[in-house]
Amino acid sequence: MIQEQIPPFYVGQEVEAIKDHSGGKFKKGQRFIVEEISQCRSSFAIKIGIYAEKGHVWECRQCGKQMESMHYIASCFRALTPEYEAISFSKILEEPLACLN
Ligand SMILES: [Zn+2]
Repeated sequence: MIQEQIPPFYVGQEVEAIKDHSGGKFKKGQRFIVEEISQCRSSFAIKIGIYAEKGHVWECRQCGKQMESMHYIASCFRALTPEYEAISFSKILEEPLACLN
């Protein structure tokens, strides 16, 4: 059973590592774009574009999945969310459509 039901990130989002990877694959503060979200045992994991050498596959030590692009536990990262003004449904209804031809 997965602990968190909603993935913490979306594909294409920019994230930042909040800790060093134990195997040295990434360092705290390094930024990546989320390429894929999947499950790793009872957690979410993300792929961030770190590939094995050509012709090789990695096996995840947590869940045993084999993959060319290793996934990492999502809790090692935080989202870099651009700031924007709050958008509410009532505000959308107030505003005239701006993109009519
Ligand atoms: Zn895994």
